[in-house]
Amino acid sequence: MERQEWGFKENQELHAAAAFTIRNILEAIMGNIDETATGKQMIHLGHGDPSIYPCFQTSPILETALLESIRSTNFNGYPPGVGINFARSAIAEYLTKDLPYQLTTDDVFLTAGANHAIEILLTVLSRPGANILFPRPNYPIYEARARFSPLEVRHFDLLPEKGWEVDLDGVKALADDNTVAIVLINPGNPCGNVFSIEHMRKVWIFLVTSFLPYVIAEIARELRILVIADEVYGHQAFGQKPFIPMGVFGDIAPVVTLGSLSKRWIIPGWRFGWIAITDPNRILQKTGLADTMKSALVIAADPPTVIQGAVPYIMKNTPDSFFLNINKLLKEASHMFYERLKEIPYVACPHKPEGSMFAMVMLKIPAFADVVDDTDFCMKLAKEESMILFPGYAVGMKNWVRVSFAAEPKVLQDAIGRLKAFCFRHAKNQ
Ligand SMILES: *Cc1c(COP(=O)(O)O)cnc(C)c1O
Repeated sequence: MERQEWGFKENQELHAAAAFTIRNILEAIMGNIDETATGKQMIHLGHGDPSIYPCFQTSPILETALLESIRSTNFNGYPPGVGINFARSAIAEYLTKDLPYQLTTDDVFLTAGANHAIEILLTVLSRPGANILFPRPNYPIYEARARFSPLEVRHFDLLPEKGWEVDLDGVKALADDNTVAIVLINPGNPCGNVFSIEHMRKVWIFLVTSFLPYVIAEIARELRILVIADEVYGHQAFGQKPFIPMGVFGDIAPVVTLGSLSKRWIIPGWRFGWIAITDPNRILQKTGLADTMKSALVIAADPPTVIQGAVPYIMKNTPDSFFLNINKLLKEASHMFYERLKEIPYVACPHKPEGSMFAMVMLKIPAFADVVDDTDFCMKLAKEESMILFPGYAVGMKNWVRVSFAAEPKVLQDAIGRLKAFCFRHAKNQ
């Protein structure tokens, strides 16, 4: 038999999922940039990676840690699927500082960044007929990954007028007997919000009571949905509200926390993250979910062994002054951004950022003469001002843009100037 066509072919479903990622969307926008034509150097406020800016360099401690790890020659081999124990235990210790109970080595699994942790969790939770609750707006990798699982995705809103709190009525309308988990990102990407302890408690009590007509004493055990707490921006809170990890509620019901070195230590290229189980009642052990995670990890890629080898040193030696300085820079940048944005009547930021590196900005599309939507806005802004913002549709909010304010102060000033010039130039009746 002679075949007429090749046995392999392009995968359209993969293209469709990739189209939804930050990387691919930014690449398309970047294609519109012509620094020579505009005479302006590119300003990239489209992603949460400020590592190019001198003021956002990681601590020199990390360089030492990695060099020591390499020189020791102890970390040239394969790691165990769940990660090297002494690195797991360093993460357990780090997280325990903010929890009312002790995490152990067994509670922590190491991943190649939090994106990998998201992939693992969605794989572990997948079963036909089940559904998962995502926030809107959301961090796009959740959406892209969920396309490859049989999980049905349902979205609840974060409310801009309430500082991006969870719309509990929305959650109530979505959840049913087939709901497996809810994702909460705090401090928020893309909204730059931080949940107050009162709000978190409210969410918690709501989750516990609204699904379950069972007796109070049994509530913790009867809560059947998992909370996935994406705390990649943990401790990057610089407003009034302190960062409180969701794991503090772990004794009521299990929480799976996602974390990473990428954002707090500003080394997104190192690819190191973790999944931590905050579950003193051992529900995830009893239900077999913890073992399922191990199985998923054993057949997955690992974070490089040398990075794992550097983690205990990083956790022990990164000085508080490094974190304080980064938060100070983020606070000043977010303040300047929020205040100066008021100079532009064609956009609005409903909530001053108080965490992470992002703000959501609404575009008043009818006020523009020739900008039809958020994508058009970002494409034209790139072309005319050599400046990159992330279109809101890709996080679930059409006609908004997500702005990363993590940039050198003078770059951010320049960026706001360009944004302002662009908006005034395209506004009606100009
Ligand atoms: C950046 C980010 C991640 C991914 O972090 P990595 O550790 O670099 O993979 C996950 N979740 C959110 C909300 C993020 O902003």
